[in-house]
Amino acid sequence: MCENFGIMHQPATAPASDLAARDLRVIWHPCTQMKDHEDLPPVALRAGRGVWLEDVSGRRYLDAVSSWWVNLFGHANPRINEAVSAQLERLEHVIFAGFTHEPAVRLGERLVALAPPGLTRCFFADNGSAAVEVALKMSFHYWRNAGRPEKTRFVTLSGSYHGETLGALAVGNVDLYKALYRPLLMDVITVPSPDAYLREPGESWQECAARAGAHLERVLAERGDEIAAVILEPLVQCAAGMRMHHPSYLAQVRAACTRHGVHLIADEIAVGFGRTGTMFACEQAGISPDLMCVSKGLTGGYLPLSAVLAGERIYAAFYDDYVKLNAFLHSHSYTGNPLACAAANATLDIFESERILERNRETAQYLGRRARALESLAHVAEVRQTGMIVAAEVVRDRSTREPFPWTERRGRRIHRHALEHGVLLRPIGDVVYFMPPYVIDRAQIDLMVDVAAAGIERATCD
Ligand SMILES: *Cc1c(COP(=O)(O)O)cnc(C)c1O
Repeated sequence: MCENFGIMHQPATAPASDLAARDLRVIWHPCTQMKDHEDLPPVALRAGRGVWLEDVSGRRYLDAVSSWWVNLFGHANPRINEAVSAQLERLEHVIFAGFTHEPAVRLGERLVALAPPGLTRCFFADNGSAAVEVALKMSFHYWRNAGRPEKTRFVTLSGSYHGETLGALAVGNVDLYKALYRPLLMDVITVPSPDAYLREPGESWQECAARAGAHLERVLAERGDEIAAVILEPLVQCAAGMRMHHPSYLAQVRAACTRHGVHLIADEIAVGFGRTGTMFACEQAGISPDLMCVSKGLTGGYLPLSAVLAGERIYAAFYDDYVKLNAFLHSHSYTGNPLACAAANATLDIFESERILERNRETAQYLGRRARALESLAHVAEVRQTGMIVAAEVVRDRSTREPFPWTERRGRRIHRHALEHGVLLRPIGDVVYFMPPYVIDRAQIDLMVDVAAAGIERATCD
């Protein structure tokens, strides 16, 4: 059972309780009400290998959420480890203005080659939110440089999520993260999501998408002159609870943006790098956005890195004599970090040499087949899937889809049950989802789904 798991048998450096206690004296964790740790302390880890995480007392947890959607090929992946170590011997970091290096250039070339046609320029940043900020600023700034300074507004979808910095938060639409900060945020135009879970009775995914698309078209027709860009998450609005839509929506939005002279920004931060079944989700609609943000899986889940890919027309609008002050002067200290770029190049090597997208089709098929069984549970309203993402909507009443009161925190009970049974699940509200590393095998899928099923039953039985 633990054969290729040698590193997991080293003695713990500190007992679990001790490390967790030290943690709680100094650390403030992300996306966490710290008081929750009074009855569920943080899990102190000592190692990871493949889909497994191991805590300081030797207990294992299957990482069913790819460590917040970043991990693709398992923890401590030998090929990525080697690439990062080799790069570490050569150059750890350097200022990326006025200097360049092989890992960044090679990565830029490869991203441009892999991206939908027309995206020819690669601007690096160091996390997803920063990439979104870059894309928003680029679009706004493009219209200034192009003599259209009145185009300053952004259109966003209900249920969208683009990160937590103030610009990214402003174009997001998840109230839990956004509502409180509203006084600090720029005003945006919000249109209905094509989210198929919200479709009318008898409506297909495609019809639901067409209805949302028609709404957006009307907004662009009326207000296109003041709009810089539409920003969206293609195919899956992950943070909204893995809400999915038909690819036809993307084609409709692309056409409308072109017709009305508005940029389309595709936030592929969560869905890029094979998550939805294709390298990038946009491919399933055959579209090219004007700007595309990638991060998360870009480095295989190793190091923080992001990129914004832009078309030549946008790039050219910034290319001028310095004194015209048209340049894009945005920067981050760790832009193009060589170690992160080396991890990303190794990740792309694995895609190339191991036929990952093909193999994922089989994995996704098995995962979907197994997860469909959750639909027979009394409190599951829907199981949906896009590629390597599967989600189950847990509700109080499946006939009306009435949710449980959010204050009951059923999802948290499922999380706790799963931890007790060796699986890291982190439901979004009451949406239980699987977004595992691509290296997961069938027995591990069985374990993950069975533990989720038992957790859902246990959390909904009263
Ligand atoms: C995670 C995420 C972001 C933000 O990325 P960070 O690296 O967490 O800042 C932006 N957009 C989407 C769609 C994401 O899933």
